[in-house]
Amino acid sequence: MSINENLEKLSNACGVTGRENEVKELMIRLMTPYADEIVTDKLENVIAIKKGKEKSAKIMLAAHMDEVGLMVKTITKDGFLQFAKMGGIDDRILPAQRVTVLSRKAVFPGIIGSKPPHIQKEEERKKILASDELFIDVGAESKDDALAMGIAIGDPIGFDIKYTSLGRDIVMGKAFDNRAGCAAMIEALRLMEKTDCTVYAVGTVQEEVGLRGAGTAAFNVDPDLAIALDVTIAGDVPGVREYDTTIKMGKGPALTISDSGLITHPRVLRWLLDSAEEEKIPYQVETGLMGSTDAARITLTRQGVPSGNISVPTRYIHSPVAMLSLKDIENSAKLTVAAIQRTSRFF
Ligand SMILES: [Zn+2]
Repeated sequence: MSINENLEKLSNACGVTGRENEVKELMIRLMTPYADEIVTDKLENVIAIKKGKEKSAKIMLAAHMDEVGLMVKTITKDGFLQFAKMGGIDDRILPAQRVTVLSRKAVFPGIIGSKPPHIQKEEERKKILASDELFIDVGAESKDDALAMGIAIGDPIGFDIKYTSLGRDIVMGKAFDNRAGCAAMIEALRLMEKTDCTVYAVGTVQEEVGLRGAGTAAFNVDPDLAIALDVTIAGDVPGVREYDTTIKMGKGPALTISDSGLITHPRVLRWLLDSAEEEKIPYQVETGLMGSTDAARITLTRQGVPSGNISVPTRYIHSPVAMLSLKDIENSAKLTVAAIQRTSRFF
């Protein structure tokens, strides 16, 4: 299947952090044709293995499967759902969003409600509503009604956004952080010929709340090298200074030099840069970024794993809907494969 088709499926699936099951099942389905073996571990990370030569080096690719979202925290006596945030979400973008509540019984559409402007006081209109003042309306008449529908404390809540193509190679959708990385990893597996090294393509869980799945997966895989496939902020929109980021959508995957959790191992950085240049794959570099990726956790595993990042430039990450260029996913996959073909330079 094409990158577009895979990303559409992955984006429309719901995998709020800690509840990645739907995305996990999809990843297993989409990686199966290109893997020699697929296993899941105790924390629900998915590990697709492409075997290389006997006793060969091990390369871990990591793309986190979870997305930022919400969770039912309390149900008011009138049947409104109050929620906790799962991962970094800006409160200002929450009001009036359509959401889906994933209960054990069914999926319920709802809206994040707030008072209409007509009945707000002057000072209320100026104030940003915090997430603990907001609520979700699923049309329930009372707490008992909501409970009878099957809604329970702890149910995950995702944003209700359908994947949309904007023509050319630009698409818009939910959870591109990090379904874009998942799509790039699947495409890399598809493009990969027989390799000398053994590749472990890992869909990780709970990245958005502290890179948790990547830690246990890396301990298990015990790789010699690792690349995290993720997204990064595309700053090519009004109001973003060049100092904040120079990364642009459609100009190639971004290679991290440093972020708040990782200083890319100099040999890994050279390896990725040389791979891009030799294959004439467009790329960008970035440094001094706040935030981090699974690579930050993998690199500190056991006695240390030289690690780097290949990121898809994405506009509006951690909001309900984001935008990216499919070309950047394709080039991220190509760069991953080009690098894997050149691992003999390391050993
Ligand atoms: Zn991410």
